[in-house]
Amino acid sequence: MNTQSQSTINSIDLQFDRKHLWHPYTSMANALPAYGVVAAEGVELQLQDGSKLIDGTSSWWACVHGYSHPKIVAAMQQQTAKLSHVMFGGITHRPAVELARLLVELTSPKLTKVFLADSGSIAVEVAMKMALQYWQGKANTDKQKILTIKNGYHGDTFAAMSVCDPEGGMHTMFGELVTKQLFAPAPQSRFDGEFDPEELNEIASIFEDNHQQIAALLVEPIMQGAGGMRFYHSDYLAALRKLCDKYNVLLILDEIATGFGRTGKLFAYEHSQIEADILCLGKALTGGYISLAATMCSDEVAQGVSDSPAGVFMHGPTFMGNPLACAAAIASIELIKENQWQTQVSAIETQLKTELADAINYEHVNDVRVLGAVGVLEMSSTLNTAELQQEFVNLGVWIRPFSNLIYIMPPYCVTAEQLSKLTHAMKTVAANINPSTNDIAFISHG
Ligand SMILES: *Cc1c(COP(=O)(O)O)cnc(C)c1O
Repeated sequence: MNTQSQSTINSIDLQFDRKHLWHPYTSMANALPAYGVVAAEGVELQLQDGSKLIDGTSSWWACVHGYSHPKIVAAMQQQTAKLSHVMFGGITHRPAVELARLLVELTSPKLTKVFLADSGSIAVEVAMKMALQYWQGKANTDKQKILTIKNGYHGDTFAAMSVCDPEGGMHTMFGELVTKQLFAPAPQSRFDGEFDPEELNEIASIFEDNHQQIAALLVEPIMQGAGGMRFYHSDYLAALRKLCDKYNVLLILDEIATGFGRTGKLFAYEHSQIEADILCLGKALTGGYISLAATMCSDEVAQGVSDSPAGVFMHGPTFMGNPLACAAAIASIELIKENQWQTQVSAIETQLKTELADAINYEHVNDVRVLGAVGVLEMSSTLNTAELQQEFVNLGVWIRPFSNLIYIMPPYCVTAEQLSKLTHAMKTVAANINPSTNDIAFISHG
């Protein structure tokens, strides 16, 4: 291929993009610059100008095996040539069946039923519907509230928004359209610290006072992601399971960010040795190659749903069980099952702890925390994402801060050298921040 045609293929019209294309959490009136990516391989994104960036985000925590992995690419190519999509109503296919088999095998014994959804937010909607229909099946129409904890993030659709953090989320913005749910304080005991049982008092009294109205408790296990990158104590999660049992409340775990090894366990609930009644998976489910999510539940929940007046589960999107997405997920899970992730994630954790530790001494760093393949520098004030983004690109890395957090969640195949470049960039930027000029107003994630 000559250079002329190469550059035509690679050229991205950034002007048009800026004028016509919405990006996540951005203004069309005052569009922020977007970087043109033409290809990606392993842990590197390639920009239009030919420069390469080491990716510290795994494309929002999804791309755990790195980009252009030959196994996932081949699986998707073969599948798309054979059957890219077929409706799931009244029809089934091998990729969906094989994926369901893998998910049932990998997750805790109670989770036997799989609903394939299009995205994480939809998986959360589906989970909430399941919980409500379950109680209808038990002839209980009082249990219609969801209890959750503050600092959570569960997606951007309306029901998902209703359980996001009431301040960092979008509750007030949409007024009555966002259902009022119950919120307990966010857990304070750190994952790596002592557990203070006192902090259960408030949530226990919410259970005590409201359990007749509570259909389910919905939380992100161990790691609260977009709501603040907080890692909480495994005893807290174990205690939540006990409270759910005591008060006859379903436990929905949103493992969309934590699933598939990110926190050092295959699923974060394993830190607490508990089981969910309903589990949401997404993001890394397909290795980050294409959108797909899953909501799993127990036989008991599925039976309740089927006993409800509707007699069926009331959800069925057009692209449900998309074969191409299922093929990507199967390939990704097969890579997970080769079990290198454990060694990789624990090596990343060790290196992050070593290399980020001294950042605690920087003037504007409030906290340094690491869990599995997640490294976080919490700064003393909100950051200007666009400005810092440019700094990171200048340093040859792709790191996207939000709120007051500079964090990385790299693909598990990141090399020690690439990881050092990422931590070096985090520390360089953190050391040079002038909080008085970093005053971004609204964006809490994205
Ligand atoms: C990203 C995320 C979601 C939403 O997933 P989408 O695919 O963006 O809709 C839900 N819950 C958690 C914990 C997430 O991190």
